[in-house]
Amino acid sequence: MGAVAIAGVAGGGIAGERLPIFDTHVHYSQGAWDAFSPRKALDALEAAGVERALVSSSPDHGTIKLHRAAPDRIVPILRPYRGEVRSSNWIDDPKLIDYLEARLKLGVHKGIGEFHLFDLPGSTATPQVRQMAKLAAARSLFLHIHSGPGPVEAMFRIEPKSKILWAHAGFTTPPAEVGALVERYRNLWVEMSFRAHSIMPGERIDPAWRDLFLSHPDRFMVGTDTYVSDRWAVYIGLVDEHRAWLEQLPREVAEKIAYRNAERLFGK
Ligand SMILES: [Zn+2]
Repeated sequence: MGAVAIAGVAGGGIAGERLPIFDTHVHYSQGAWDAFSPRKALDALEAAGVERALVSSSPDHGTIKLHRAAPDRIVPILRPYRGEVRSSNWIDDPKLIDYLEARLKLGVHKGIGEFHLFDLPGSTATPQVRQMAKLAAARSLFLHIHSGPGPVEAMFRIEPKSKILWAHAGFTTPPAEVGALVERYRNLWVEMSFRAHSIMPGERIDPAWRDLFLSHPDRFMVGTDTYVSDRWAVYIGLVDEHRAWLEQLPREVAEKIAYRNAERLFGK
């Protein structure tokens, strides 16, 4: 316990040593391609000390371009969105399964997402969504889901073998509720993009979040969510806002959340 406590005080470790990050929520969508060439996007990751990243995009072409430029650094996730198929209508897309199956033939994607499921009755009830859950489980692909707790639970009911990466920890879901879900579902992992300010509203990490990370250190990861090109422009800051709270956790826990959990799930 003593050694852990000392490591906790040390936080970020040796002065000047930057915690490596595996960013589990990057988009490289069409709107970013002009301002950020693949080289420039990869330079942004490098400058921010991000060693690996889960990347998805609308359309998928951007993800594949980035992956081909740096196959060791980029882990592709397949987004259902392209053209007129967007967050508002993808659950009813009649071509969804054909599209996913065709893209998955590339053999490089480790998951499907990030996609949105709204907290409305029926959002997980379309045949396409159900089939997608079955397809992902059969191929051991993760589902990267932006939703509140309700749709996450609905997806586990459709396919109990699902592996779910919950985007933004539900965006507004309080830590106690996030903890209850993590305890209920062993194949649920949670990424904290957009939550740095709720985790650390001031100078110190919020105690409820801290306790949750300490009791489930293997289930959390960090992400930036570069959903618009403006966020590529401030990428280092988006990464560092996570380092700020991670450095207030014991080093061992901070390393797990920063990159070790993602490496275990998505490869080194
Ligand atoms: Zn999102």
